[in-house]
Amino acid sequence: MTNASPKLSANAETGNLADRLRRVRGRLARAVAQSGRTPHSVLLLAASKAQPPETIRAAYALGLREFGENYVQEAVGKIAVLPDDIVWHFIGPLQSNKTAAVAAHFAWVHSVDRCSIARRLSAQRPAHLAPLNICLQVNISAEVSKSGFAPGAIASAYAQIRQLPRLRVRGLMAIPRASDTYAEQFAACDALRRLRDNTDPNLDCLSMGMSADLEAAVGAGATIVRIGTALFGPRTTKVTS
Ligand SMILES: *Cc1c(COP(=O)(O)O)cnc(C)c1O
Repeated sequence: MTNASPKLSANAETGNLADRLRRVRGRLARAVAQSGRTPHSVLLLAASKAQPPETIRAAYALGLREFGENYVQEAVGKIAVLPDDIVWHFIGPLQSNKTAAVAAHFAWVHSVDRCSIARRLSAQRPAHLAPLNICLQVNISAEVSKSGFAPGAIASAYAQIRQLPRLRVRGLMAIPRASDTYAEQFAACDALRRLRDNTDPNLDCLSMGMSADLEAAVGAGATIVRIGTALFGPRTTKVTS
């Protein structure tokens, strides 16, 4: 029982990840069933910030193909060494001096929170790549500390951003205020859903739901849940951009 060979501990890691993935898939399946939705209507996006390439490769081996990253430099290094068929989503705060790298390396950006960032991403999206999928981030709980458009600013931002030739606006994204109650979690997610419906019901994406509130998010209509801790365990390394 004291065997600590590298091989065994690597297997133990994989086992933990496999168990956690099974639990997350179970939570998603129950939430989807309870809200009368179809299993494939919700994408599990693995929020892999601070996770090393080996961990992402282990998740890939378990079938995950879509990963969300927050820090441009960290992500670009990982993208370079990981399989080509991974779909990379940028989900973190985006500064204008990092838009070119994001436009070149990612398929999605969930965190577009200013029209100027959208214009840069469109102008910088390489011609050989498909248009960049984006979500407009909404500060749905009106928190001073959170980025995102105010709900009242979405209609005009959407009207401008949807004209940009190299972007494809897919929907809205939010990080609601943390809450322990399903009712509060649901209310915030439902507000994002209604905002989407009022902005353009043809927008097919609602990026909401994290480890703590994925059931409420799915109940309110999430199409992409961004799951970190519940898949990978607590993040030990603090990363900065
Ligand atoms: C880290 C992160 C997540 C995942 O959060 P967990 O609570 O660890 O599941 C989701 N979305 C964004 C934008 C994040 O930065």
